[in-house]
Amino acid sequence: MDAHVFRAWIVSAAGVIEANRDHLTQLDAAIGDADHGINLARGFTAVLGALEAEGAKVATPGAILTVTGNTLISKVGGASGPLYGMAFRRAGKALGNAADVDLPALSAALDAALAGVQQLGAAREGDKTMVDALQAALQGFRQAVAARASQDDALSVLAEAASAAAIATIPMQALKGRASYLGSRSVGHQDPGATSAALICGALRDAARTMPLTVAGRAVR
Ligand code: ADP
Ligand code: MG
Repeated sequence: MDAHVFRAWIVSAAGVIEANRDHLTQLDAAIGDADHGINLARGFTAVLGALEAEGAKVATPGAILTVTGNTLISKVGGASGPLYGMAFRRAGKALGNAADVDLPALSAALDAALAGVQQLGAAREGDKTMVDALQAALQGFRQAVAARASQDDALSVLAEAASAAAIATIPMQALKGRASYLGSRSVGHQDPGATSAALICGALRDAARTMPLTVAGRAVR
C-alpha cells in the first residue's frame, strides 16, 4: 500500500465521519456531552485542509499519518482529539519513510497506534471506549496477517471486528472518560468513540479496495 492508499484512507475517513456526524453526536448526547461527531468532523476537515496545503511534501504513508495526527491534536478539543491524534502520529512514526507498506508493517503500525492511545488514556479492554474497538480490530487483523490472508480479507476482518466490538460496548459500564461519570447509567448505550473507531477502520478497508494493488511499487491489479 503506497501513499495513494493512505491519502484515500484519510479522505474516506473524513467522508464517513462527516456522514455520521449527527449519529456520533447523538451517541455522545446519551452518555457524554454531545460533541463527538462535531469534534471529529471539524478535525478531519482540518486534516483534509492540511494535507491539501502541504501537497507533494507529504509523499509517504508515514508522513500522511503524521500530518493527520498533528492536525487532530491541534484542532480537536475533548478527549478524542489527543487520543486519535496520538494514534495517527504513532502509526506514522512506525511506518517511517517507507514508500510502500505491506500487511505486517501496517499491523505493527496499528499496534503502535493502540499502544499510544493506551499510554495516553490508560483505558483497557472492557472500559467502554475506542480501545475496545481498536483492540478487537487489531487482534483480528494480526491473526489474519499471520495466516497470510489477502489484503482485502485482512482489512475486512479489521473493519468487521471493530464494528462488532463497538456494538458490544452497549451492555458495558463506562470506566474511563466522561461517560464513566454516569456510573451504571452508561449501560445500554453504544460508545461514541468505539463507533468512530469502527468507521475509521472501515474507511481503511474501503480505501484499499478502490486503489490499485501494488507490490514493490508495481501495480498488480
Ligand atoms: P469528550 O468526552 O472529552 O467530550 P469526545 O466526545 O470527542 O470527547 O470523545 C468521547 C470518546 O472518547 C468516548 O466515547 C471514548 O470512546 C473515548 N475516550 C474517552 N476517554 C478515553 C480514554 N481515557 N481512553 C480511551 N478512549 C477514551
Ligand atoms: Mg464528548
